[in-house]
Amino acid sequence: MNNVIIIGSGCAGLTAAIYAGRGNLNPLVIDGYEPGGQLSLTTMVENFPGFPDGILGPDLIENMRKQAERFGTQFKAGAITEVDLSKRPFKITTSSETFDTRALIIASGATAKMIGLESEKKLVGHGVSTCATCDGYFFRGKEIAVVGGGDSAMEEANFLSKFASKVHLLHRRNEFRASKIMVDRARANEKIRFVTPVVVEDISDVSRGGVEFVTLRNTETNEITTLPVEGVFIAIGHEPNTKVFRGKLDMDENGYLITHDGSQTKVPGVFAAGDVQDHHYRQAVTAAGSGCMAALDAEKFLDAHKAADAAH
Ligand code: NAP
Repeated sequence: MNNVIIIGSGCAGLTAAIYAGRGNLNPLVIDGYEPGGQLSLTTMVENFPGFPDGILGPDLIENMRKQAERFGTQFKAGAITEVDLSKRPFKITTSSETFDTRALIIASGATAKMIGLESEKKLVGHGVSTCATCDGYFFRGKEIAVVGGGDSAMEEANFLSKFASKVHLLHRRNEFRASKIMVDRARANEKIRFVTPVVVEDISDVSRGGVEFVTLRNTETNEITTLPVEGVFIAIGHEPNTKVFRGKLDMDENGYLITHDGSQTKVPGVFAAGDVQDHHYRQAVTAAGSGCMAALDAEKFLDAHKAADAAH
């Protein structure tokens, strides 16, 4: 029997583990599909407080993991295949084991959608990014591309125009999913150039380990062109990792978990933290903050149910 299981080992999950560990709860963290979460896919992180010279994303995560271990956190590899939240103790099943737990913290994150190109995968962190707030600063004075036609793409293009010399907004249709006000704002920005209707066919140059140009195909004429850029920001949406909770917890229309009064879900004893319940801020520091909140909420919940739990 576990006091608390934490699903996910990104910034939110590990911060929850540090707090739960220091609260003597001996948490168990189940790593998930992407151990370390989105930070493990980035390079330099310059906006996490406490690191005046920046820190590499994988190093930051490794430090958090060690810190969680120091306070008694156990880790299990694997992803969740099934959860039973109908009564306490909750049952959490991975492909190889089932665990019982008195409280649960869901910090399974969200995954940035990718175009699906091999070159894109190889150049993530080397010119290809899914986070303008994290990486925009590295593209001062450079020409870059943003891919997408939703509010995120408009917002990121505007944000990136503060650093880049030119932002090419690449979208596969001539119409935009983004709200009119966001499109108008981007159109009024003289640093942003709209390029439609195009799909990115390739990002070069993998052999040189950095972004030099993108190959575009016009979806109406099939004409192939190349565009020299030094960075590509993919802003085609995120997918919260909440499939196993469908029908069991409240979600918004995009599948993000809905929390209330801090980190509580609709099931008492089940808490959510980080990007799995936040599609707005999506920052390492906000994820860490909400991981802390979830651990404190879980601790308080377990305290209040101590007598009943001892009887089991
Ligand atoms: P989104 O609204 O789902 O838009 C995704 C965009 O990416 C669409 O334009 C889509 O093209 C394109 N796309 C999807 N898959 C693609 C692919 N494989 N290749 C190329 N393009 C692809 O996602 P979002 O922009 O991240 O927004 C998510 C939610 O957050 C929305 O509700 C949005 O309003 C909200 N949001 C709000 C703000 C704000 O108000 N400040 C800022 C950011 C996000 P198609 O249109 O052709 O499908």
